[in-house]
This record gives sequence, C-alpha cells and structure tokens, in this order.
Amino acid sequence: MEISNTSKTFIKDLAEFIALEYDEIITPLERIIESEDVAVFYDDYGNAFDGIIVYDSEFYIHINTKRGNRIETPRGRFTLAHELGHYFIDNHRNGLQKGLLEPHPSKNNEAKHQKIEREADYFASCLLMPEKRFSKDCYRRKFQFSIIEELAKKYHVSLTACAIRFADIGNHPIMIVYCESNQVKWNWSSIDFPFKYLAGKNNKIPEDTLVGEYFNTGKGERKTEQLWAGDWFNCFSHEDEDRQIYEHFIPYKNKALCVIWED
Ligand SMILES: [Zn+2]
Repeated sequence: MEISNTSKTFIKDLAEFIALEYDEIITPLERIIESEDVAVFYDDYGNAFDGIIVYDSEFYIHINTKRGNRIETPRGRFTLAHELGHYFIDNHRNGLQKGLLEPHPSKNNEAKHQKIEREADYFASCLLMPEKRFSKDCYRRKFQFSIIEELAKKYHVSLTACAIRFADIGNHPIMIVYCESNQVKWNWSSIDFPFKYLAGKNNKIPEDTLVGEYFNTGKGERKTEQLWAGDWFNCFSHEDEDRQIYEHFIPYKNKALCVIWED
C-alpha cells in the first residue's frame, strides 16, 4: 500500500527545526536520538543495506558498519539522518507503526525510485545542512570546487551530500554526475543549471570528459579542468557547444563523482 506524499516544505521545516534547536554546526545526531524513543545499533549486516528502521512496539534503527557506516563518519551520519527521516516524518512513522509501510533497506548513492526514499534523503540533507546556516556560508562567494570541500568539512558530510545540497540552495548553478562501472548512475542539478541533457545516451558516459577518459584508459586523478559544454551535454546550437564549463572529477576505484559548472 502506498502512503501519501509529504511536501518538501514540510520536510524541510521539520528537519531544520530539529537541527536548529542545537547550537552545534555539526548536527548532534546522538543527542537527538537520546531525546526520542528510538534505539540505534551499529553492526555488520553484510552487504544488504546501509540502514534500516524497524518498528516492533518501539523503533529500532540498524546501521551497517560493513558498508562503511561507522558512527561519526560522514557516510554513517547521512545514513542515520535518513533513517531518522522515516522516524520523524509522520506519514512514514505511522506507516511503519501500522504496517502499511514495509521496513525497507536503504542504500546510499543509488538512484532512488521510491518517493519515501527521496523524502528521507531530503530530510537528512536538511537536518545535516540547514538552509539558514548553509546559505550564509555561500553568500557572495564566487564558485569554485573548494567551497564544496570546505562546507563538507564544516558540516561533516560527504562531498556528494554537500554538492547535492549546494545544487539545491547554493549561490551558483552546478550539476553532479555520479558514475559507477563505466555508466552514469544518476545526475542532479540546480534548477537554473543551463544544460539539461548529457551527451551520452542510455547512461553512457560522454567520452571527451575527465571521467570518460578515466573509464576508457583506467587513468586519471582528482582535478578540475576546463572543457566545452559540447563535451558533456547535448546542445542545441554551436554557440552553446562552445560555452566553457568546468568539470571537477573525483575517481574512487570503479566509481567517480563529477561536479560541473559554468563560470
Ligand atoms: Zn529509507
């Protein structure tokens, strides 16, 4: 059975209200848990999930250390914040309590097809990086990738989580492209990002890009480079193709994160 949607504004207000009750910039998840009826367990659960929340007369959250979700790591914190989303969002909590919503394993860095998963991710993002604080940090600064690095450190979140938040509420349009095993897994962009369609069809990585070269040759290192918009995107005119863009590329084994922007 489907549970009804919760509006983004409601989720944002809820998450940020909780975060801003504390003075700490790094949202103190442990203290939030202490004041709620929820028990959290960190354990090795194989490769099944990053986190899961279960209701059995009480709420239990299980966090999977096997997949790198240790307490106080950016990944572990995001996973916990996501599960807290299922706990704090009324529709999710009621759904779990009444058995309308099956406990579901949540995984990070995957395209989320289920609405409740996107809602919990959005909750986590707002809880860990409340707009009121985050927007101030971006104010009147010219964009360069180091801003994402700096804010990821400040809020103790992963570069991916921070870049997504920046795309939503930062002061410069960017696109994030996440690739794995030589395929584009998902992309995310600011509403006002000037290009919409990637040059590669069917999740194919555009070849003349840093990430394209990495998967073609197996070589490449973390860096920023200037490219043509036509290298990354389907453009509708030659002028658009010739626009200069930047790609910041971060490889990790068979995965890569790219952040793209125009000056
Ligand atoms: Zn979930």
